[in-house]
Amino acid sequence: MSKVKKTIKTIKIDVEKCNGCRACEAICSAFHASPKYSSSNPARARIRVVLDPLKNIYLPVYAGEYTPAECMGRDKYVLEGKEYEECAFCRASCPSRDAFKEPDSGLPLKCDMCEDDPPQEEPLCVKWCLNDALIYEEREEEVDEEIVLEELETGLNSLVDKYGLENVLGFVARISQRD
Ligand code: SF4
Ligand code: SF4
Repeated sequence: MSKVKKTIKTIKIDVEKCNGCRACEAICSAFHASPKYSSSNPARARIRVVLDPLKNIYLPVYAGEYTPAECMGRDKYVLEGKEYEECAFCRASCPSRDAFKEPDSGLPLKCDMCEDDPPQEEPLCVKWCLNDALIYEEREEEVDEEIVLEELETGLNSLVDKYGLENVLGFVARISQRD
């Protein structure tokens, strides 16, 4: 099986340094607004900060994959004596809650590492976190080509689910004309 290089992008979260300012949520929602930067609404952000100011707990959570069905097992965390609601730190956009969904359409939101158009050199939430609670790291790894193709297929399927085949094909045609 042939190998290809893949860039693994990571955002390390230093929870101790987060002060709950929510600048990350503001810039994320502004960057993904349409048109860009036309509005800022944390409910549309792909990162959300779980807050408990009384206990000085601020925990940023990134939006992960969309899941069409609720999972059977649930997580419940207790931090410094406070019990958080079920799934409070889960990254999935899932049918059992409103987190990581467009408030108007209900469409799932997922962190895209700011690779939206135009792609950013560094994720904007990292850039705007003045407390260095978010640290961006990149590394190269060799992976099976088949895995990369599978990921590509999954990504394309979710784009088609979200925007429809016609819109995705139109978008691809526009990109190919740019070059
Ligand atoms: S911008 Fe940084 S310090 Fe502010 S809430 Fe987000 S992660 Fe925390
Ligand atoms: S990396 Fe970009 S898309 Fe992801 S949460 Fe940060 S600002 Fe939003």
